[in-house]
Amino acid sequence: MLRLRQESTAPWTSRRGRRPATLGVMSPATLPAPVSGDEQTPGCAVVWSPQLADYDFGPYHPMSPVRLTLTHELACEAGLLQRPGVQIIDAPVASRDQLATVHTDAYLDAVARASEPLDLAAHDELISFGIGGDDVPAFRGMHTASARLVGGSIAAVDAIRSGRVHRAVHVAGGMHHARPGRASGFCIYNDAAVAIRHALAAGEERVLYIDVDVHHGDGVEMALWDEPRAITLSLHETGEVLFPGTGFIQDSGGTAAQGSAINVPLPPRTGPDGWLRAVEATVPALARAIRPTLLVTQHGADTHRMDPLADFTVTLEAQRAAMEILRDVADEVCDGRWLALGGGGYAVIDVVPRSWAQLIAVATGDPIPGDDALPDAYVAAESRARLEHGIPDEPGGRCWGDRVPLAQRRPWSEGMDPEDPLDRAIQAARRAAFPEWGLDPFLD
Ligand SMILES: [Zn+2]
Repeated sequence: MLRLRQESTAPWTSRRGRRPATLGVMSPATLPAPVSGDEQTPGCAVVWSPQLADYDFGPYHPMSPVRLTLTHELACEAGLLQRPGVQIIDAPVASRDQLATVHTDAYLDAVARASEPLDLAAHDELISFGIGGDDVPAFRGMHTASARLVGGSIAAVDAIRSGRVHRAVHVAGGMHHARPGRASGFCIYNDAAVAIRHALAAGEERVLYIDVDVHHGDGVEMALWDEPRAITLSLHETGEVLFPGTGFIQDSGGTAAQGSAINVPLPPRTGPDGWLRAVEATVPALARAIRPTLLVTQHGADTHRMDPLADFTVTLEAQRAAMEILRDVADEVCDGRWLALGGGGYAVIDVVPRSWAQLIAVATGDPIPGDDALPDAYVAAESRARLEHGIPDEPGGRCWGDRVPLAQRRPWSEGMDPEDPLDRAIQAARRAAFPEWGLDPFLD
């Protein structure tokens, strides 16, 4: 694996040199030291409040909050929240000032209006802010519910920065499509972007955001487009065929932050082994070169083969492997300082709870083996949810994984197949992004 070249050759260096002293940036040596002395079980915050389920577009919307309540149920029943070093933290409602670090005043006013009973004239006005219609219908209490998701991500950053924990998980977060002035793709406020802004304002030197949702993390990229201290890296199904239609390799950040946006668009029907090949061929090398002080990841579960809104065929085994890769990256490059968020995922009973409870398992200690049976109490809760949602019960019961073992992966260092569309996509992304960070796109 190619290591970071001499620091003086990295494009980042010149930007660091121009950084104004007034930002109050802390060097890595002055970052708060994590309190936990146990290397095996670094402390982990898990954000949870039952009110997070108030983010609810109604019974006919694909993003049902049952995916959150069942994830919490599974994490509880599996004993994950009782593991050593786990701290449950509340999700307070983010303030208007906090939201305004990313969102426009006009948009914040529009969401506030959408949270109240609406007259007909209001509908026309709100639609220009992306509110209304099938994707982001207005609902009572919309502002408070959405701002609570943001508050959870901010609280997670604060928990890490205080030194109380190394890691934090907030599965209700990851609303990566929300734009500064517009709702989009079921996302109202962009908790990831606000949390990253919050971290930078608090003194974080450099934040790396990695998004493995099947959709491009367009809202986060856009909000941080000109911010050289925040680097966004999104792996997703190509925007040529999938919403939101963005995230191409040539999109690399604003003029003040060239190289700070990195996109790895992948072909439709990318499977578990190809997806992990893409992650491994891009993420670790870039993370080592970028040298963040905090890693923020978005774990949309909609890469899964059962997801109704996208075309990848990824498995729970591969999603778990990606979580472990990202955890290891945080351990290697930023002392384990890692905030993991949820995101998309529309197989709300069949897939998301197992994927995100596994995320909590990976962040709080050991992952759960894929062959392990689901706890009986969770299976009962899941059956009740199936009945409520009109989804038939799974015959024969299920376990934590999909019972699809991962293949032996061929490392990128052993070469690429120019006839394979996936390899060509990975190579194109490396050619676009690696030189900006002093890396060789052809060799590891
Ligand atoms: Zn998605």
